[in-house]
Amino acid sequence: MSHVAPITPSFAELGLNPQLLQALAQEGYTNPTPIQAQAIPHLLTGRDLLGLAQTGTGKTAAFLLPILHRLAATPHRATPRCVNVLILAPTRELASQIDQSVVAYGRNLGVSHCVIFGGVNQFHQVAALKKGVDFLTATPGRLLDLVGQGHIDLSKTSVLVLDEADHMLDMGFVKPIRQIVALLPASRQTLLFSATMPEEISSLASGLLRNPARVEVTPPSTTVDRIGQSVMFTDAANKMALLKMLVKPPTVSRALIFTLTKHTANKVAEALTAAGSPAEAIHGNKSQGQRERALAGFKSGAVRVLVATDIASRGIDVDDVSHVFNYDLPNVAESYVHRIGRTARAGREGLAVTLCEPEHRAWLTAIERTIGQPVPVVTDHPFHSEEARLSRMKPPVMGGGGRNQQGRQGQGQGQGQGRGDARPAGRPAQQSRGPQRKPR
Ligand code: AMP
Repeated sequence: MSHVAPITPSFAELGLNPQLLQALAQEGYTNPTPIQAQAIPHLLTGRDLLGLAQTGTGKTAAFLLPILHRLAATPHRATPRCVNVLILAPTRELASQIDQSVVAYGRNLGVSHCVIFGGVNQFHQVAALKKGVDFLTATPGRLLDLVGQGHIDLSKTSVLVLDEADHMLDMGFVKPIRQIVALLPASRQTLLFSATMPEEISSLASGLLRNPARVEVTPPSTTVDRIGQSVMFTDAANKMALLKMLVKPPTVSRALIFTLTKHTANKVAEALTAAGSPAEAIHGNKSQGQRERALAGFKSGAVRVLVATDIASRGIDVDDVSHVFNYDLPNVAESYVHRIGRTARAGREGLAVTLCEPEHRAWLTAIERTIGQPVPVVTDHPFHSEEARLSRMKPPVMGGGGRNQQGRQGQGQGQGQGRGDARPAGRPAQQSRGPQRKPR
């Protein structure tokens, strides 16, 4: 990545083995990213690690490279149904992407690997696990399912990685995680990555990690400098027309559009397609096959515009997203940071354009408070609404550490119409955490 400081050691200087260096060269990586430079030396010594890093920072390679290095240095044989390295991820998309990274970085080491997640038939997953695997990447629910059925034995697992721990917490996976950890040997290496550090994550981490090294890149509440942010105020009724206009130009080479609800995601994708900008929607109501096809199309460039809800977008790992459009503002300040972080990845530049209707004006204020800067306003467009710009709602309780409260609020929005859903964020009624929140 181009923003890496010149004093950063090279991958070779970090002491990675030649097969890994070759794989990195094949991936086209020249220098470690900051999280890689910080984390790899600790992990190579077998130390536990607490990593505060968002997606897009190179954190997957930060944990996979040293684990692969140590695995290659230790003669081992797969034992039937056993797993050597267990990686837990909140969503099937993220789990699949981590598994693909295992393949990419481990290509010269001949490691065995498998990915398991719910929503698909377990037959192939069970067959792949029979002989045992070096790397298993899993979502917690399906893992416990297969453990319960006797297809997986975790008693010999030597490394546990919890990726996007804060999202796992949001999705109600804390209890399953604790159940899984209880099945692992006490003597193991444990790594926990999270973009934010709410109280529940700190307490989970202190229970799981032993004398961990702590590494941190990009504080969660700051936005990447390379992202050109702007907000356009408009009435709810004009948002679609404005969006159609914004995605049209060829400079919008790959666009990710965020909506609050699945219903709106479908509506936006249909309207853009009808207007000559073919778009696909991904959200929790789509089948695994539909989601994978849409994502693959977006990655390959066949699909230029992808519309997603927040949860469905977790783990979308596409480097050259030129534009992020917030069709709906997120009602969770930190979701804004996550959303716009999908552009300007891997050293590139990107634009994040937010449409703001009057009812969501207070959410923008909360976001600006969280990121510590105003989002520049663009008024020079045909659908500008002064009313939206000047409207004020009761300021919501948002900001640092408040993400979980607002995250829960978002769940109540179900299939609403977008604008009619507006409620002040942080309503106490939404503050009980359901054990199994469904992804939107
Ligand atoms: P992650 O944070 O793991 O989702 O990684 C973000 C993106 O950065 C992925 O697309 C990786 O392929 C890419 N990446 C990871 N490490 C490097 C590196 N050292 N140099 C350039 N790109 C990288």
